[in-house]
This record gives sequence, structure tokens and C-alpha cells, in this order.
Amino acid sequence: MIRKTQTLPTWDLSDLYQSDDDPRLDQAMEEARERAARFEKRFKGTIAVADLAAAHLRDALVEYELLLRDQNRPQAYAMLHFSTDTGDPRRGALLQRSREFGSAVAAHLVFFDLEIGHIPVDAYEAIRNAAELASFRHYLDHQRSLAAHHLSEPEERILVETANARGQAFCRLYTETHGATRYALDQDGQTCEMNQQELLSLLYSPDRDVRQAAAAALTSGLRRNAHVWTFIYNTLLHEKEVLDRLRGFSTPEASRHLHNELDAGIVATVVDVCVANYDIVARYYTLKRRLLGLPELTHIDRYAPLAGGQSEIPFAQAQETVVDAFAGFSSRFGQIARRFFDARWIDADVVDGKRGGAFCASVTPDLHPYILLNYTSQPRDVMTLAHELGHGIHDVLASGQHLLDYHPVLPLAETASTFGEMLVFDRLRQTLNSSEERLALLCGKIEDTFATVFRQIAMFRFEQRAHADRRSRGELTTDHFSTLWQKCQQEMFGNALQLGDEHACWWLYIPHIINTPFYVYAYAFGELLVLALYAQYEKEGEGFVDRYLELLAAGGSRTPEDLISGLGFDIRSPSFWQNGCDLIRQRVEEAEALAQA
Ligand SMILES: [Zn+2]
Repeated sequence: MIRKTQTLPTWDLSDLYQSDDDPRLDQAMEEARERAARFEKRFKGTIAVADLAAAHLRDALVEYELLLRDQNRPQAYAMLHFSTDTGDPRRGALLQRSREFGSAVAAHLVFFDLEIGHIPVDAYEAIRNAAELASFRHYLDHQRSLAAHHLSEPEERILVETANARGQAFCRLYTETHGATRYALDQDGQTCEMNQQELLSLLYSPDRDVRQAAAAALTSGLRRNAHVWTFIYNTLLHEKEVLDRLRGFSTPEASRHLHNELDAGIVATVVDVCVANYDIVARYYTLKRRLLGLPELTHIDRYAPLAGGQSEIPFAQAQETVVDAFAGFSSRFGQIARRFFDARWIDADVVDGKRGGAFCASVTPDLHPYILLNYTSQPRDVMTLAHELGHGIHDVLASGQHLLDYHPVLPLAETASTFGEMLVFDRLRQTLNSSEERLALLCGKIEDTFATVFRQIAMFRFEQRAHADRRSRGELTTDHFSTLWQKCQQEMFGNALQLGDEHACWWLYIPHIINTPFYVYAYAFGELLVLALYAQYEKEGEGFVDRYLELLAAGGSRTPEDLISGLGFDIRSPSFWQNGCDLIRQRVEEAEALAQA
């Protein structure tokens, strides 16, 4: 049972629907379904034609966007309503009904993006710059660049229909076998069974013996299943190689770059700058070794906590801290943040049956987003509140965009959330009196930043090597992957921390490399981008604020390069990314100074 010490806010979903038996819910789903069928009837076969008129394409896009809004609203309500009481069968049934409704609508709409991709080149060039299409140009261009890699319709159909018997099936097997794996933890002469989450959390224990026991249990559990998970990874690498060849992608990373609207040159610059700054990691761990008072550090000490962690923070205080920090940056930020609390767009309560974690869910540009979190009064929860509110403010500011351009692309998706965390981190730091508490807060932030920047880049380099080696040498052994993994991870630490042999097989539990190849670099891109922006804000002060607000207001209407150049930065230049790394280095220097005091 959950112990309650304070009243936490719950959200009010009545801006969407009154309840799960609100008759408007079924009515909305029925109408959207009919409207989607009419859309298909009217526009199918009329888009990918040689004499396409700009006005006709615009009519289709306007109607399409409205349809997506109609589709989102009941689905968003069902998801939100379910997430605060996942054990309620009525809510579960509504969620299922809304998903089936979503699929039914999608079936009528699937032709549309395909036809956009198949508009003959001459026909598209003739209307591309027409005034009627100005607000949809970015969307159209992007859909067409994706479509350049589509296969023929019968071929695509085979891939769709066999999807769950190929790669996706192996991903599912990976998830299910990991979920079912129990790890035997030996401690004080006793053995207890644990799942992976429980075990990983012990790597943060202040007791070194506990961390050692957890690491040993993880390693032996991973080794036991290494054959299956290596087989799965080899198979996925092979499938990707085949599909990349058929779709005409020149490198393993190319399809990810295309979706992220970045090119290989920009990503290579980010990676190179990060690698050139690996010494920051080594420098920090030299300090951490001293603070922990250990003769040497290994992988079991990477996440060891430092003394001086903060006490509990009640929700009201968290709210005040976050709103103050945001208002101190910009009054508009402060106003929007306050509305989330006043209008009850946040559900922070901790109750049985509520889903874990946190998210900010945007609905449509004409409606406000909702935030879910589980507030347990830890300093980390204040950061989570800042993070999700950052997303919320981004969505509110981007509400001038139509739905097709509302969401930023992945590398920009965490901009406002990370920036919000920085504002609150700075505010929290000022409120702490003892240098021990400030040091603990600072080190926590440094380690989080390492996890988002350098660790992700190390993983990206591992993936690059794994895909390249699978393509040049055929099927690879567990040991081969383990050697690559250990090398790519150890590079970061220099001589400051020696990853032990048992760490070499820990690539076996990283879900991203299985489910979404090359996803990881977007984390580093986003975090470093925000660090660079924050460094600029510290330099420029208020002059920076309006340009930043404009960036957020643009949502996903332009490419990352285009949007960031609007702020006066060149993401092709190594010095831009170096600014971000310099800020991390400054923090490590600050920690060194605090430790000295
Ligand atoms: Zn986020």
C-alpha cells in the first residue's frame, strides 16, 4: 500500500469529455470514422496525378489535418483516463475501443502519405511553391523524402503483413525473455530472486557490497541467456542490412538521420566533439573516487551515491520552485506554468493502479496538454516536474502550428524539457546552504548529463561498429559484441575508472539497440544543444529569451538546422557543440572547487 503524507493534485479531464460514459465520446468516434471514409472516397487516386492542382492538394491537407484532430481527441481521453487507474476494467475497455477506432480511421488514411510520395516530380515542382501550400511545404517535402525509399505497393504490403513474423517478432521475444528473466542475488549468505529493474536500482546503493552483488547477479543472468539475445541481435542486424539495401539507404544510420531531418555530417560533428571531450568524464571520476574514498573505481562504483543528498520536498514547494524558476526566465513561461496548476492539467498523485513514470501528453494544437507524474517528494521528482512542464510549455507555445507541424522532430523534442530542468537546477542550487548538499546536487546533475551525452555517444559508436562488422563479416559471436561494447564504453573513462570483465556483456540488456537502431544519438544531440543554448542565455541574458520562444513556437515546422540557425547558431560548426561541452566541464570544475571547500 502507498503511504500518504500530503494531498497531491489530480487532473480535470472535463475539457475533453465529462466521463467515460459521456455520449459525446462514441458520437465523436462514429463521426470521425465516417469522415475518414468520406475523405478516402473523395481523395484516393486524386493526389499522385500529373495534373495535380495546388488548391486540390491544399483542400486534402486541410481536411486530413482536421481528421487527425478528430481522431486524437477521444484517443487522448481514453489513454489519460486509463493511466490514472489501470486496474479499472471500464477504462481498459474504453482504451481498447479507442485503439480499434484509431486503426479503423488509419486504414482509410493510409493512402494519403503514400500518394504524396508518388506525386510525379514535375507535377510536384510545378505546385511546390504555390502560396496555397506554403504552410504545408515542410510536411510535403519531408513526406516525399521518406517516400523516396518506399518500395512498390505490393512489396510494401508484404512487408506490412509479415512484420510480426520478422524483426518485430524478434523484438518481442527479446522483451518477453528479458521480462521473464529472474536474477539470483547472493547477499549475506542468502539468495533472493529479483527482476532486472530491482537489480539495476541496487547499482545506486551506498553499500559497495550490495552494488558488487547486484553487478555479479546481472552478469550471470545475462550470460545465461546470451545465446538467445545474441541470436536476436544478429538477426535484426541482418534484416536491417537487407531492408537498407532494398530501400536504397547507403549506410546503417541513414534511415534514422532522414527521420530526424539531420544529415550524416552534422551527426558526425556532434560525435567527434563528444569524443574529443571524453576527458571530462575521466576528470569527474577522478574526483568521485576521492569523494568515495576508494583506492580505485570499477563499473560497480559508477552510480554510487555521494553523501549529503537532500531531504524531502513537499509538492507545494516544488510547484513554487518550478514556477519561480520559469518566471525568472520569462514572464510568459511563468504564466503558462502557473496555468497548469491552476487549471488542473497535472496529475501528481501516487495511488495504486496508476501507471508509473511521468509524461506530458499533447492532444491537439487547439487543446492544452496534460501532465502525469508520481510525486514522491524526492529532489528527482522536482526535476521531473520541471522536465514535463518544459514539454507542456513547448506544446502551448507551438499551438499556432497545424497538427502536421505541431510536434518537433526527435532531436528537438527534449529541448524545452531539458532547458526547464536547467532553470530549476540553477534555482535549487541557490536555495541550498551547505556546500555538501550543493556538491551532491551538482554531482547528481553531472552524472545525469554524462548518461545523456557521453554514454549515448559511446552506445552510438558501438552500434556503428556492430552494424558495420555484421555487414562485412557475417554473423558475430557474443564475445565479439562484448569486446566492441567494452572498448566503446571504456574509452570514456580513461584511467579514472576500470570497467571490470563482467561489464563486457552488459550490452545484452540495452533495449534501444534492439528496438530502435541509432535512436540514442538524439539524446546527446538534444542535451548538448540545450547546454549550448543555456550557455548563450547566461552570456546574453534577456536578449536571448525572445529568440528561444520563437524556436519553441515553431514546433516541428522546420528542420533542426533551419530552426537553430534562426537563433544565430550553425549546428555544422564544431565550436557550437564545444560550447555545450564547456558548460559540462565548468560544472565538473565547480564540483572540484566545492569538494575542496
Ligand atoms: Zn521528455
